[in-house]
Amino acid sequence: MTADAIIQTTPRQGIHWEFEKLDRCPVCHGAEFSVVFVGEIRSVPLQFTKCASCGLIVQNPRPTCRALENYFSSRTFIEDSSAADYDLEQPLGYHNYSEWDASYKATASLRLKRIMAYRPPPAKLLEIGTATGSFLDVARRFGYAVRGIDVSTLFAEMARRKYGLDIDRHFIEDAPLPPATYDVVCNFGGISCWREPVRALVNIRRSLTPNGIFVLNFSDIDALVGRLLGRWYPEFNHASLSIFSTATIQRTLQTAGFDPVFFETERQYASIGRIVTYFRSRTGRWLANRLRIDNVTIPVVAIGTVFGVCLPSARASVAY
Ligand SMILES: [Zn+2]
Repeated sequence: MTADAIIQTTPRQGIHWEFEKLDRCPVCHGAEFSVVFVGEIRSVPLQFTKCASCGLIVQNPRPTCRALENYFSSRTFIEDSSAADYDLEQPLGYHNYSEWDASYKATASLRLKRIMAYRPPPAKLLEIGTATGSFLDVARRFGYAVRGIDVSTLFAEMARRKYGLDIDRHFIEDAPLPPATYDVVCNFGGISCWREPVRALVNIRRSLTPNGIFVLNFSDIDALVGRLLGRWYPEFNHASLSIFSTATIQRTLQTAGFDPVFFETERQYASIGRIVTYFRSRTGRWLANRLRIDNVTIPVVAIGTVFGVCLPSARASVAY
């Protein structure tokens, strides 16, 4: 993949927004795109294009490596509600990631019970995109030996402070992972943020033991929620570098040498406040505050979000 034409924009929210134009699809290397979303969020330009060959939707132009490190490590990304120019309908990050830690932990237990059916502890588990470390903390209690990777310095500091976790800071594509080491590698809500998903997955595959599994979730834009919301689909945001469908994720996984063996609609715990914020509903937030149910956590079937388990394919090697 090549990228050319660095586009500089005025720094905003303390973030050095710098974009690069993609001339090839990061999955199939196709060179023809059509624009599917164009707009801006709080004056920061945002555009998505669809690959004519495989159908993958990518942010294009997209933030450069330097801009992504800067953005993911910013207070705006982790606690957007504290930004001076915060607007619920135009988010540039999580409303306040830490506010919903309890629901993330409850969700972690659900995910781990599914993972245990494939690879119970004792086992080595690596999480990519650890955020505050809540999943790894629960995984450690389940008996897994845990490691974590995140690009964000601010998230890594929070995980260290809160849970005593040492998080390695890398982009997953370039992370120096030990070969044939992990029984479980997982990533929740993160594959859409990877610059080169196939190269990242090949790196992950090499780090798995022969019986290892890769576990992920992703938002499926072809599901009903995506079709109903159109350009208001929440995944059209600056943190999404790719927006997948079930078809494009399967192609991506298979190109990297993975066979998806289990796909199911994700189950999570979420607070009412988190749900209405995700859908950018001012009325919903007002109502939740008024009824004092903001922090009420409920089990939800996350329609349009898919939980998947993948095995390294039987093919001996994957050239990529
Ligand atoms: Zn493509």
